[in-house]
Amino acid sequence: MEVEGLVVGPLAANCYVVSAGGDAVVIDPGAEANRVLKAVGGREVAAILVTHGHSDHVGAVDELVAETGAPFMAPRRDLASLEGYVGVRPARLLNDGDRLEFGDISLTVIATPGHTLGSSCFYAPGVLFSGDTLFAEGVGRTDLPGGSAEALFNSIRERIFSLAGDTIIYPGHGERTTVAREKRSNPFFASGWV
Ligand SMILES: [Zn+2]
Repeated sequence: MEVEGLVVGPLAANCYVVSAGGDAVVIDPGAEANRVLKAVGGREVAAILVTHGHSDHVGAVDELVAETGAPFMAPRRDLASLEGYVGVRPARLLNDGDRLEFGDISLTVIATPGHTLGSSCFYAPGVLFSGDTLFAEGVGRTDLPGGSAEALFNSIRERIFSLAGDTIIYPGHGERTTVAREKRSNPFFASGWV
């Protein structure tokens, strides 16, 4: 499984193109559909996934669906927040524990509420797409509708820090990191502050 990251839009969101064999999955196409399509190259887009419903992560969904015909899949509990940003209806609503199989790409949905109600991570052995739940030395904001600091810290502790330390984290903004590195040096956790 290969991962290519692109920084898109004015809020510098990370969009990821995950590929294996001839298939690709796009995660969080926030803007700049043309650049995303270029990264996809000649591969078949099997699905367009979003980690949560914020505009900087979903802004290019309509254009990508129109261009590729791929099914759009979004966390069930963030459905309401998609309204106004995305016109196409999700072909599938995602729940905690869902297994997503696209050819040689296999991802598991891990619900990580806190940044938003429906915020979800996508996991494959060795790799986690964390959306705006966990960043390199940071965490997602919790002051927007559906946000909860308590839920966010619980999600990170119970659902992310329980993964293998060498799991690579591809966050929704900023540089990639690992589970072990965040346990050790994320200021919200390393200090014992939460
Ligand atoms: Zn967000």
